[in-house]
Amino acid sequence: MNVLAIGAHPDDIELGCAGALLRHVAVGDKVTLLVMTTGERGPQDSVSRVLEQENAAARLGAELIWGGFPDGAIPHSRETVTFIDSVIAAVGAEVLYTHGQHDTHQDHVATALCSLSAARRLNRVLCYQSPSATAFNPVVYVDIEDTLRGKLEALACHRSQVERCELVDLEAVEAGARFWGHQARMRYAEAFEVPRFVWDITGGASAVRRLESAAAAGEAAADRVGVRDFELVDGGGAGEPVRRTGTSVYLVGGRRP
Ligand SMILES: [Zn+2]
Repeated sequence: MNVLAIGAHPDDIELGCAGALLRHVAVGDKVTLLVMTTGERGPQDSVSRVLEQENAAARLGAELIWGGFPDGAIPHSRETVTFIDSVIAAVGAEVLYTHGQHDTHQDHVATALCSLSAARRLNRVLCYQSPSATAFNPVVYVDIEDTLRGKLEALACHRSQVERCELVDLEAVEAGARFWGHQARMRYAEAFEVPRFVWDITGGASAVRRLESAAAAGEAAADRVGVRDFELVDGGGAGEPVRRTGTSVYLVGGRRP
């Protein structure tokens, strides 16, 4: 599966969804980061932020694309939507992660709105939380107990921000993951608002069609079909209680059937 994560600045993606992205990578999904600006107006030179983002992408095992938009002035415009359109097409994105739209930072808002416009044909769109969010009401959670350490390591690559920006606080990130985990009845989680999320339950007609088309394309393609992406329960044997391994929607943590 091809996954695209969009952030306005270096570090936004790691703050919002690095734990989920690491789970995608762990099951063989191809993850691409689109970072709209180099964050050149922050309290450091832009060169350092470029290198930091490149290191973070490498830590995640993700490809990196730069948007080249001006820091602080990403336009909410047709130009921006068209650009994101082209990236979605280029990477063959099937799942999109982006900012939530309720945020004090104008770049986060513009990126969120333009992403949602560009993602009009995608059926899985998840919006992550930023420290500058003004409202956030998640309904989908991803278990990141196994990837929290990797998320913090990727975030630590953004050294200029960790050291100089009070909003990039590793301790707060871990506490937030624990809070969302508690909300989701697990240990650590990332949380997402979902403008649109099609849950592919194994055996559904669309999943069967995708399996058939994937089978026709060969075994390699079949391995990427979305029916392996979700798992409700890790069932016990006869007479054993079924143990829930996730919330009602459990992304990418599941074993392959
Ligand atoms: Zn940002």
